[in-house]
Amino acid sequence: MSVLRSLENLNFDNSFARLPERFYQITKPQPLKGAHLISFNAEVAALLDLDPCTVTPEVLAQYFGGQAPLPGSEPLAMKYTGHQFGVYNPDLGDGRGLLLGEVLNQAGERWDLHLKGAGKTAFSRFGDGRAVLRSSIREYLAGEAMQGLGIPTTRALCLIGSDDYTMREGMEPCAMLLRVSRCHIRFGHFEYFYYHRMHDELRQLADYCIERYFPHLAGDENPYRSMYRQVLHSTADLVARWQAYGFVHGVLNTDNMSLLSETFDYGPYSFMDGYQTDYVSNQNDHQKRYAFKAQPGVVLWNLACLGQALLPLVDRADLEAQLECFGGLYEAAELAHYRARLGLFQAHDEDAALVSALKLLMAEQRVDMTRFFRALCRLNGSDAALEAVLAVWPEPAKVTDWLLQYQARLGREKIDAAQRQVRMLAVNPKYILRNYMAEEAIRAAHQGDFEPVNDLMTLLRDPFAEQPGFERFAGQPPGWAESICLTCSS
Ligand code: AMP
Ligand code: MG
Repeated sequence: MSVLRSLENLNFDNSFARLPERFYQITKPQPLKGAHLISFNAEVAALLDLDPCTVTPEVLAQYFGGQAPLPGSEPLAMKYTGHQFGVYNPDLGDGRGLLLGEVLNQAGERWDLHLKGAGKTAFSRFGDGRAVLRSSIREYLAGEAMQGLGIPTTRALCLIGSDDYTMREGMEPCAMLLRVSRCHIRFGHFEYFYYHRMHDELRQLADYCIERYFPHLAGDENPYRSMYRQVLHSTADLVARWQAYGFVHGVLNTDNMSLLSETFDYGPYSFMDGYQTDYVSNQNDHQKRYAFKAQPGVVLWNLACLGQALLPLVDRADLEAQLECFGGLYEAAELAHYRARLGLFQAHDEDAALVSALKLLMAEQRVDMTRFFRALCRLNGSDAALEAVLAVWPEPAKVTDWLLQYQARLGREKIDAAQRQVRMLAVNPKYILRNYMAEEAIRAAHQGDFEPVNDLMTLLRDPFAEQPGFERFAGQPPGWAESICLTCSS
């Protein structure tokens, strides 16, 4: 029988806090004035065995607005470093977030609770230790949108607003987000110990990660090598999913790369409205380092940084040989995700060319891939269904040849059209978190109306369902969507 718990009684077991203090600095959250609950995520509460009936908005605001210490938590700021925009920065670490602790649930899962926006720490540098409501809403929504799509991600238990303001794009209200994730270990955690020549601690960190995340590898000849291999494989799959769904992270620094290959640290990210290979989501990224098309290469570069940091533990030739595999792994994963989206359940040699041709066409026409794939699910030989597909394309004549090839390819599948449609509708979302949707919710929240944030959470949790009442989000984005400007400021 499952037993749910109250917030005061969560089953904390803080393994990271048991590591030596070189790994972190103990720090208390600094309270926000007038902290109040904006949104609570009951699905994430379930992961923590938290009984939603025992929590009140006041209690959540008290614990996650920094007023009172959450019983069982041991807040600390993690130390890490990392490569930002290609340059090593030794001065990183949790500058405005604190790991509160880890909750063990009845299913045996261990969840990190991380309070983002909790005030200054030893690693804040020139920052104020705060997060603003705008970016906190964006991170809160993104976690749920990714989860809904089946793309590995961090999530959040709740979002807390306040009466405190800080300077970003003008004065903006501060907020706190209780991020919940299996992993807050970044590539940059390893880089810290490597570049400080703290090889004993490096090994200790690696042992900690193997015990916690990869226990099945512990008996391998070189478990560090095996861990790297696993990280490389799952990271290749993660970026393949981003590419297949038009997601641009925006700040793919090594300190924003999770060891468990979850999409992590949402800042100026975008799901593209129109497919554009050189799309840059972050206006501060003048070099276009983190453009959409650059992501697989950048992720490989980041994996090389992680490999470098593991040199004291794994043979160089071995790491290099593994890096060589990335391209093939990535391509196979991307093709697999496209095949699923196209309703191709068998693998044929011609598929790679079919997908490449489609990507070229989508880029040429800057087509809205979400709306295109959704319409494609309904293709059934009728004129109306074909019209709906063509209507998504600025120049429909450009895609007709491809559609003929695609239909010929569908003809080689064994599954019937009705079954195919069901399976395609389950991987091709009707809804995606477009920037304008987040922007609308942010504007309403700034006016004290939190309903749009909460509505979007409901919508994004199941983006494949029809969700009547939300139809307007399935259509073309409004004209002003293109003028939304995203930056690192958060
Ligand atoms: P990010 O761009 O959010 O990935 O953050 C990069 C680094 O800057 C991390 O070490 C953060 O902890 C730190 N940082 C970001 N914003 C702030 C802030 N407002 N105050 C203190 N540190 C910050
Ligand atoms: Mg970060």
